[in-house]
Amino acid sequence: MNIKANNPALTSWISVDANSDFPIQNLPFGIYSDSTVKHHACSAIGNYAIDLYELASRGFFSKLNIDKEVFNKAYLNDFIELGKDATRALRDRLSELLDSNNKELQDNKEVFASIFKANNSINLLLPVKVGDYTDFYSSIDHATNIGTMIRDPKNALMPNWKYIPVGYHGRASSITVSGTDLYRPKGQMKPADAEVPTFGPCKLLDFELETAFIIGKASKLGESISTEKADDYIFGMVLFNDWSARDIQTWEYVPLGPFLSKNFASTISPWIVTLDALEPFRTEGYVQEPKVFPYLEYTGNKNVDIKLEVAIQPENSTETVICNSNYKYMYWTMEQQLAHHTVNGCNVNVGDMMGSGTISGPDPKEYGSMMELSWKGTKPLKLNDGSERKFINDNDTVILRGYCTNNKTRIGFGECKAKLLPAI
Ligand code: CA
Repeated sequence: MNIKANNPALTSWISVDANSDFPIQNLPFGIYSDSTVKHHACSAIGNYAIDLYELASRGFFSKLNIDKEVFNKAYLNDFIELGKDATRALRDRLSELLDSNNKELQDNKEVFASIFKANNSINLLLPVKVGDYTDFYSSIDHATNIGTMIRDPKNALMPNWKYIPVGYHGRASSITVSGTDLYRPKGQMKPADAEVPTFGPCKLLDFELETAFIIGKASKLGESISTEKADDYIFGMVLFNDWSARDIQTWEYVPLGPFLSKNFASTISPWIVTLDALEPFRTEGYVQEPKVFPYLEYTGNKNVDIKLEVAIQPENSTETVICNSNYKYMYWTMEQQLAHHTVNGCNVNVGDMMGSGTISGPDPKEYGSMMELSWKGTKPLKLNDGSERKFINDNDTVILRGYCTNNKTRIGFGECKAKLLPAI
């Protein structure tokens, strides 16, 4: 597929640092507010958010036949729902306007301030209204680590794991955007050596390094989406911290799975990086043995090489990077997850969000949760300030970052960041 805006040779008249997440080849989508704007759709380049409503109002998208009001909404859902042909054309047009060789906007100095907003002067809001949220469990190293710890190292993976992209239905109401603090949840726990459960603030609070994809096209009830068609239904991706209360989880999850240990907060990054922009970073996936059912078979490179990292920043201290992983470690691809999700006729809607599941790699430094990094609390991590962590402490900020790079282009997601406040 030849996507004009992805051309690695393009440069912009807006200066962009070499290590920026937002060169002209990215052009993700988000929603922002500031002292004058309640909520406008925006894109990003370098250190600026680009106000799409202002561009549309001034006629810069006049050839695209897009109603400018889709950029004047609290969420991107209506824009995304226009479909990939429209959103792709918009991204291409934006790329054209930002291209060094194009003068339309470059020479239009009087409109600059109302279109380009410095990132440090705006608030980035939740980009989509998430209707339904599903979380998978698709990293083989993560599933193996958890199975080894809580069950049996010899049979770490459950018998279904290599046949089914295992998942569960989560809760959308508590998905928040990066920068939104959360409270340590309270609940029931039963320590292994206790006779009866106790109630109180969770003691084993964990992050989960995940990404999520956002549905860009609705399917009908009864319809199944094939792996081949799946990319038409996926608008883009965000970073996703699926906060987890391990001790609440251990007591509650039998027999129906996670509940209050997962639904108190989940944090996403504010920029949706389009699947189009990620296309140059597709890479091959795992050889799947045993062979998967035909509805899960796929062709081509469907994994994505996204370098991921997690840092902990204690209160009044500097951060320590505690994990470096990669999205390419996913055993089940997004396309397989979506095909499985809909094989029974379950319908999806624009704005639905699908979490990858914790993304761990084979190396212990690539483990995507404290549960694995500290091996259930038996191997505390040392932070740069000398303190130790088995799980997340009150007033710690957890920061997820992710970017793709090849020898031509580097595109990233920005930060997915939130601070854990004490229980109230
Ligand atoms: Ca999860």
